[in-house]
Amino acid sequence: MRLSVKLIAIFAICLASSCHNPVAQPFIQTVNGGVSAQTLGATLIHEHLLVDFIGADAYDPHRWQHAEVIDRVLPFLLEIKAKGIKSIVECTPAFLGRDPVLLKALSERSGLNILTNTGLYGAVDNKFLPPFAHQESDRQLADRWIKEWRLGIEGTGIKPAFIKIGVNPGSLSPLHQKMVRAAALTHQRTGLLIVSHTGRAVAAFEQLDILADMGVSEKAFVWVHAQAETDYSLHVAAAKRGAWVSLDGISDNNVEDYLAMVQNMKAHGVLDRTLISHDAGWFSPGELNGGDFRGFTTIPDIFLPMLRSNGFSQAECDLLLVENPAYAFQLTNP
Ligand SMILES: [Zn+2]
Repeated sequence: MRLSVKLIAIFAICLASSCHNPVAQPFIQTVNGGVSAQTLGATLIHEHLLVDFIGADAYDPHRWQHAEVIDRVLPFLLEIKAKGIKSIVECTPAFLGRDPVLLKALSERSGLNILTNTGLYGAVDNKFLPPFAHQESDRQLADRWIKEWRLGIEGTGIKPAFIKIGVNPGSLSPLHQKMVRAAALTHQRTGLLIVSHTGRAVAAFEQLDILADMGVSEKAFVWVHAQAETDYSLHVAAAKRGAWVSLDGISDNNVEDYLAMVQNMKAHGVLDRTLISHDAGWFSPGELNGGDFRGFTTIPDIFLPMLRSNGFSQAECDLLLVENPAYAFQLTNP
């Protein structure tokens, strides 16, 4: 609703002024280029197709072969495509297996839109940070990420759709404060959404405070893994500040917990700041046939029917799965 109203408004402005310069339309940056925001459709906003936990010290993209990964992963994408999912946000950061060329091939073979990211992941005590992350300033890190947005990632020409960072739980270390500032500087230049692996509320609110201090809208922030915070009133408080609250670990075994969290967001009028996903997948290099792979079917098969049988309208389900993702990830600066 919100998007279509916006598009109609833009169209109306154009007609009224007979403008020849088209107004910048919101778009989504996929690994196959920009698409219109309404093309995104039903979207899983936090999933993984490949993750290598070996750490930055031993990181090596030669640890996986694209053909093998595609054979293993493609069936899981075709499975959700058949269930009406149109887009998947791949949240694997640099130095953890972010592989834009692989994602592009999987997007082309599956027909799904796939989004990838720029940024660095400091969670797990900086195991996935290269030395330059320690040495460089917030401005220097931001310049790296802005360059990926302008020119593409690692010479591929494939551009990121968002900034992915990660912080440890609890109060932010100076290093992680610097990374949040780098993300904010990148956002100021690019408009890219800041998607931060966070967990409990302490680190979420410290990050929001940094953004506020820098004059960056808290609406540009996604509190990833907010389900780790058991005080649900803090989900609501973050949403009321403008943040996106990402309840993103849905599996067949915990749908009742997620129903309670989403019902709480609805009861407090902040369903329009709520995102849902599975944090599932993924191909694990070094394991036989990529190891266990958890598919992405709980939301379409179990959780959406559960929402409907608990009084959520189709419009509210669409808000969670279609409109909020499009609104969160849309960009206006090509
Ligand atoms: Zn994840």
